[in-house]
Amino acid sequence: MTEREPGPAQEVAEAWDALVATARRTVTDGLVVGTSGNVSVRAGGLVLVTPSGVPYDRLGPADVVAVDPVDGRQVAGALKPTSELPMHLAVYRHTGATAVVHTHAVHATAVSTLVPELPPVHYMTAALGGTVRVAPYAAYGSQELADNMLRALRDRTGVLLQNHGTLTYGDTLDQAYDRTAQLEWMCRLWLTAASVPGRSPSLLSAGQLAEAAERLRGYGQRD
Ligand code: 13P
Ligand code: ZN
Repeated sequence: MTEREPGPAQEVAEAWDALVATARRTVTDGLVVGTSGNVSVRAGGLVLVTPSGVPYDRLGPADVVAVDPVDGRQVAGALKPTSELPMHLAVYRHTGATAVVHTHAVHATAVSTLVPELPPVHYMTAALGGTVRVAPYAAYGSQELADNMLRALRDRTGVLLQNHGTLTYGDTLDQAYDRTAQLEWMCRLWLTAASVPGRSPSLLSAGQLAEAAERLRGYGQRD
């Protein structure tokens, strides 16, 4: 294999490798089945996206699909971009996102059919910016879905899509992915607690969530 030249081409090639690895992880971790879901990342002034309906284990370095973040025009790749391009572009246009992950995670999708927002059963709600809302249903791939999603995403880094799935964003692919995993875990937690007959789960107050948000700012190995 030849060394990659430093510069935008190398940045795009490395970002594509990371995007494909993240997309594969959504399958191996059980967050999607088959070619469901999609992943995107900003690199070299472009937005790289998974192609529509292509199994992630078939994607190699030559399959880069890139679009212009401003007008959504395809600027690289022979494969057609994900059908959810309107949702991905809406996130990049209205937030500081570097990466976006969309899945059909089963517990999150189940919750999206039951309530207008995920009740705050755990302090990790604060890691997503507050109580996660459910965007009203619209057909997959539609601008209406992107519009509904964007409204529900306000001041949050994740959202549930009614009768469809999840969308989260982050500063990196790992952060966007991790937020999806946390969201799916919290949905599973709420479904588990809420399914005990005759009982309903205790929920965190706005004050408790604000305190958790403050603590999370110093969480882990930060100075
Ligand atoms: P794509 O294969 O076009 O990305 O579609 C999958 C999906 O999840 C649509 O909502
Ligand atoms: Zn989908």
